[in-house]
Amino acid sequence: MKKIIKDYSIVPEQLQKCQFKINTIISRIVEKRKVKIGNCYKKKDVKQKLSELYNNKCAFCETDPTVSSYWEVEHYRPKGKIDKEPKHKGYYWLAYEWSNLLYACKKCNIKKATKFPITGIRVKKHPEISGKPDFSKFKANSIDLENEKPLILNPEKDDFNPSKHFQINKDGEMIGLTEKGVTTIEICDLNRFDLCVKRKKVIDDINFIIDIYVSLYIDKEIKKASLKEKIKKVLYSLKNKIEKDKKLEYTFFQEKIISDFDKLFIARKPELKEELTEIYSEFKHKNKTL
Ligand SMILES: [Zn+2]
Repeated sequence: MKKIIKDYSIVPEQLQKCQFKINTIISRIVEKRKVKIGNCYKKKDVKQKLSELYNNKCAFCETDPTVSSYWEVEHYRPKGKIDKEPKHKGYYWLAYEWSNLLYACKKCNIKKATKFPITGIRVKKHPEISGKPDFSKFKANSIDLENEKPLILNPEKDDFNPSKHFQINKDGEMIGLTEKGVTTIEICDLNRFDLCVKRKKVIDDINFIIDIYVSLYIDKEIKKASLKEKIKKVLYSLKNKIEKDKKLEYTFFQEKIISDFDKLFIARKPELKEELTEIYSEFKHKNKTL
């Protein structure tokens, strides 16, 4: 997962136009009639804006779904019903709410479905003011919704920092460091086979190159200065790729490869620990933000 910056006040036009439909949904809920939620949230400009903001990458797994499949407009808070809460009608009032819409691949969307566990107080119905829906409280950062304390992470939250919640390992897996991290991995199935294979390949490719340079150095075919230059080149080329290619898949994972280079790569080469640690320290010193 990566942090996404979305301005909740700039709502796509087509979505603004269907806000009034919420009144119909609410009336039917109040009258205990069957509710059908339309698909305004899938209009062209909504999809276009989400594609741009998310750089065509799934909010949860960072896969580009357009390569092999299609993507879906995901309701962060489920619009129709909530798993394990049969009496809850779902967050019907957020069906067309811009701050509730994320970009998700089909696989994450299907896994997440109607699940929305929280540790705080569940909001059960639409907020009102003088008997009318209070749209000012529909936003994801409104106090009542924040007080639900959701366990599924939202990449659009102001304070979202993936490093706080996730670690990675050499097998391409994500490891939850917090309850929210663990729950998000579990619910969206972020360690599914195909994802681990793709993420592990990034690590394996780097290991392959490092192994070549390390062998050349051990066999005295290259000198320390050359080893240094080549290993730094590997690190810089990964860093540049992440910075320049906004559509690059699994960016969080690739950033972690750089910040955990000692654990993932140096630890594998105890015979060259001193040299590799020195190279990595120099790299880190020049790239303090990593
Ligand atoms: Zn996904």
